[in-house]
Amino acid sequence: MTTKREWVSWAIGRIEADFNRSADTHLLPLPVPALPDIAIYLKDESSHPTGSLKHRLARSLFLYGLCNGWICEDTPVVEASSGSTAVSEAYFARMLGLRFIAVVPKSTAQAKIDAIAFYGGECHFVDGPAEVYEAAQSLADDLGGHYVDQFTYAERATDWRANNNIAESIFTQMAREPHPVPHWIVCGAGTGGTSATIGRYARYNRFNTRVCVADPDGSVFHRHWADRSVERVEHPSGCIEGIGRQRVEPSFLPDVVDRMEAIPDACSIAAAHEVSERLGRRCGGSTGTNVWACAMIAADMAERGLRGSIVSILCDDGARYADTIFDEGWLAAKGLDIARERRKIAHFFDTGTFAAG
Ligand SMILES: *Cc1c(COP(=O)(O)O)cnc(C)c1O
Repeated sequence: MTTKREWVSWAIGRIEADFNRSADTHLLPLPVPALPDIAIYLKDESSHPTGSLKHRLARSLFLYGLCNGWICEDTPVVEASSGSTAVSEAYFARMLGLRFIAVVPKSTAQAKIDAIAFYGGECHFVDGPAEVYEAAQSLADDLGGHYVDQFTYAERATDWRANNNIAESIFTQMAREPHPVPHWIVCGAGTGGTSATIGRYARYNRFNTRVCVADPDGSVFHRHWADRSVERVEHPSGCIEGIGRQRVEPSFLPDVVDRMEAIPDACSIAAAHEVSERLGRRCGGSTGTNVWACAMIAADMAERGLRGSIVSILCDDGARYADTIFDEGWLAAKGLDIARERRKIAHFFDTGTFAAG
């Protein structure tokens, strides 16, 4: 007979042992030869065991739930997720022998649904992204389970001072670069957890690094950042999975964000195609959003004669989007013509100049 406390101790030990077997993710240079004084890097979060930056979040959320006494030996674990978080949480749930159910919009990419199932998770489908929260809470209530609620807990489950969070890892890996303290770090916002961690970490360590959030143009986050009274948008926020929301999530902390760029989906997808080709591997749509904002910032810095580094995030593996943003038929059905945007981002990588809009 194991006691509750013994099981929690065992569970934390399993997660820590998994971490101990894992390597850190690479920081990849993204060369723009025409801009010798500006260095762009991508933190490759696709190389985590579950393929995205949500691997870090899922680990933190499970540790948080275990240490808070919310997750016990027989607790069904439920999450509201557009996919990536659920894939990573399914991995940790299986590691601990727990039932896991993801509440996902039915528009979620099939490859992500397959990945959740691959790790032993179940999917509960709802019509639209706005419905996932309530559906997840009531499912957890019905099952006597735990609703993880990444959107509320992302910013507090992550140890923002350090403990190998993404910010600490980036600054450590930048140490031997020509401009070791990034001028800008660019990321997206889904939960808002990544931007909160990086913004707090930079302040706490007194680095003169600014945080730019690259947001889909349909998302509420940049509207809220500009005017705090805006709490939601009625239209769906677009087709870049993982980022852009209709409601301001509790984990999005606008006060630690220095700049926001609203990026049209066609630009994000074009940049995802372009950077995939330049790196020789496929990246997801939100990486494209980040890269488009990096290009704007780099061109801007060059014009003002500034030198320095820009770090952004390769959020997930593009293989997950073979039947969406990398499928011509899918793009056509969505009415997305990315040819002009593709020429523009290619022009940036070739010449270092970039005209926004
Ligand atoms: C969640 C997610 C993001 C944004 O990260 P947050 O920390 O949740 O703001 C970006 N890209 C992808 C693919 C994601 O799944």
